[in-house]
Order: sequence, then C-alpha cells, then structure tokens
Amino acid sequence: MLSLDHVSKTYQDGTEAVRGVSFDLQPGEFAVVLGQSGAGKSTLLRCINRLVEPTAGRIALDGSEITGAQPARLRQQRRHIGMIFQNYNLVARSMVLTNVLAGRLGYTPVAAALINHFSRQDVAEAHATLDRLGIADKAHRRADSLSGGQQQRVGIARALMQHPKIILADEPVASLDPAAAGSILEILKDINTRDGVTILCNLHVPELARRFGRRILGMKAGKLVFDTVPDALDAAQ
Ligand code: ADP
Ligand code: ADP
Repeated sequence: MLSLDHVSKTYQDGTEAVRGVSFDLQPGEFAVVLGQSGAGKSTLLRCINRLVEPTAGRIALDGSEITGAQPARLRQQRRHIGMIFQNYNLVARSMVLTNVLAGRLGYTPVAAALINHFSRQDVAEAHATLDRLGIADKAHRRADSLSGGQQQRVGIARALMQHPKIILADEPVASLDPAAAGSILEILKDINTRDGVTILCNLHVPELARRFGRRILGMKAGKLVFDTVPDALDAAQ
C-alpha cells in the first residue's frame, strides 16, 4: 500500500540524511523503523507525506504517487496519512476537543473559535474517540494541562479523525516513561489489529521494536541496513 523507491534526502547544508531507501508496506502491517538518533528515521518518515521534500526517489500510496503531486493533490493524499510526533504537536492553548477536531482539517492549526464550524457528527465522533482512548473526561481541558501520555492520546485521536489508511509515528513514546510508553504502543497495536490501519513507527529502543513491531526495518547513517522480523532482530543487528 506504501511504496518507497530509492528515496534520498540531502539537506541544504549537505547532510545526506536518507540515502536510497526502498521498501514496500502491505496493508495492515505494523512496521518499526529502528535506528539510533541521527540515523535518518525522522527525515524518512517526513519524506513520506512531504513535510520534508525528498531530493530523489519515488513514493506512492495505494498506487498513486506522492512525490511530484501538485499542492491540491498532495493535500488530498495527506488526508489518508495520520501523523504522530514525539512532542505531540498539539495546539497547547486550545482545548483537547479542538485539537482532536483539527484532524478533520489535516494539519492546519485551528483556533478554538472554529469549533462551531464542525458538524454535530464530527463533534460526537471526537468525543467517542477520546472515550475509546480513555480520556473522555479531558475533552474541555487545555491540551497543555494534560500529562505526556494523555497528550499523546490526543495526538492519536486527532490522527484517527482523519480515518487514515496509514499512521506514521515519529518516536511517539520517546518523551514518556516506560509505563506510559507501553500503553501508547498498545493503543497503536489495537488500532492496527482492530481497525486494520497500517502503521509505520520510528523507535530507537530495540526492546520496544521487538515487542511491538511485526516487521523491523533497521536504519543506520541514512541507509536501510536490515528488514527482518522480531525473532531475528538479534541476528540482524
Ligand atoms: P533520526 O530521526 O534517526 O534521529 P534525523 O532524520 O532527525 O534522524 O536526522 C538525520 C540526519 O539529518 C542527522 O545528521 C541530522 O542532524 C540531520 N538533519 C535533520 N534535520 C535537518 C535539517 N533540517 N537540516 C540539516 N540537517 C538535518
Ligand atoms: P525533534 O526530533 O523532537 O523534532 P530535533 O532536535 O531532532 O527535535 O529537531 C528539531 C528541528 O530541527 C526539526 O525540525 C529538525 O528537522 C531540525 N534539525 C535537526 N537536526 C538539524 C540540523 N543538523 N540542522 C538543521 N536543522 C536540524
């Protein structure tokens, strides 16, 4: 469903962050990109929805090319791609509910006033999504009044409001303690198995990759260095 063909990114200062990465994801996969800090994981993930512009290669989602897509087409493609970030990327001063509803609009930061523009169904769905993620009671709190684990649940709820085909998660638990990290990854696993959403998740902790990834893509110095299953991770590393 996702196809990367020799994708590279060289930043303006000459840093070759991603070097000729190719792989395909099948629908319903839970794949982890594992690598140390600086390996290029974040750059690679951001190339997929062109938050970072790749300098070479082709990326396609369900057969339709993302690289080379004009702005209107790119906006349409991005609706199918949910993003989750290490630092949650919430609008700190806005309500939790507003942040979740923003998922309907893509990545535009929305002012609280815009909440009146959402349909009753959208609002009901946002509440139901918060309920599923165990934070129904936080809907009217300011986003930045929540704990890290709760803020990441808001980030996930926002992504779910897009009804994404795929969720790209960039170190979603790197700012969390082990207990909160485990429950966030369990939520992603549930979304993967129950809703069938394909997941591509950057992690730097091998133990977490082994526990949650059903496929592990190893990245080092911008290159894909292995593509394996959890049981074979030790041999691959
Ligand atoms: P990871 O997510 O694995 O930590 P990154 O993709 O963040 O890796 O970084 C890969 C390399 O690209 C690093 O050397 C990093 O310093 C560099 N890099 C990341 N973003 C930029 C940027 N905007 N400009 C220049 N270099 C960057
Ligand atoms: P995070 O991964 O939590 O976003 P980083 O410190 O890795 O935090 O990156 C913060 C921002 O700086 C990102 O937008 C990243 O692309 C950019 N960045 C990272 N490394 C470099 C670099 N070597 N040169 C320029 N920008 C960079």
